[in-house]
Amino acid sequence: MEPNTTTIASGLQKVKARISEIADKAGRQPEAITLLAASKTNPVECLREAFVAGQTIFGENYLQEALGKIPALADLPIEWHFIGPIQSNKTKRIAENFAWVHSIDRKKIAGRLSKDRPESLPPLQVCVQVNVSGEDSKSGVAPDEAADLAAYIVELPRLKLRGVMAIPELTQATALQRSQFRMLKETYDRLKQAGYDLDTISMGMSEDLDIAIEEGATMVRIGTAIFGPRRYAIPEELAIRQGKPE
Ligand SMILES: *Cc1c(COP(=O)(O)O)cnc(C)c1O
Repeated sequence: MEPNTTTIASGLQKVKARISEIADKAGRQPEAITLLAASKTNPVECLREAFVAGQTIFGENYLQEALGKIPALADLPIEWHFIGPIQSNKTKRIAENFAWVHSIDRKKIAGRLSKDRPESLPPLQVCVQVNVSGEDSKSGVAPDEAADLAAYIVELPRLKLRGVMAIPELTQATALQRSQFRMLKETYDRLKQAGYDLDTISMGMSEDLDIAIEEGATMVRIGTAIFGPRRYAIPEELAIRQGKPE
């Protein structure tokens, strides 16, 4: 499918304007909120268009898909973030190909990513994924287990703990969403109070961007509002939607 240049550039512009407006209203600095383009299912031409329009940080969920795109865009100084569920047999290629991982939810994965991170690269920047909705289907540690995982990660030589990430429940109930974002912010604050040097609260997607920023997001992960509706043609995405982790 051909990318629609005008649409991607204007989608990006609209998202940035929205971030600025919400931040202003919430009494926050717009520059304190980093925009990650969640690019899963979108072909490299679309990512290239977004890059030309000024976007340099991209997040991918599915390793196989990302491993096709990263070399195809190697001529661009893109910062790649892995934001999907992680199987332990995938850690090597994640550690070799990404600058950040948002979705660490167990010690085994953290340990493997550190071991697999090439010495030639800077430490892998990571977030602890927190399950703020309590749904069984969601990845992430319970909020009261985040400190234990954080303590483990900061001892690993090739990881740098940056903060926390969550995907709240998909619901029309904004009060519920707000309470889940607040839970992530509180988890972050507790870790900071415990002495961890953190700067990242990764939360907020196309549908809940406003509340996430009001509740303190420092990095928002936006797909649909930039690229338009997703293409579900790839088998990995179908597998994930049926509950099989990458
Ligand atoms: C797809 C995805 C997003 C972006 O979702 P949109 O609703 O398209 O903005 C953000 N975070 C994660 C983990 C995702 O998988």
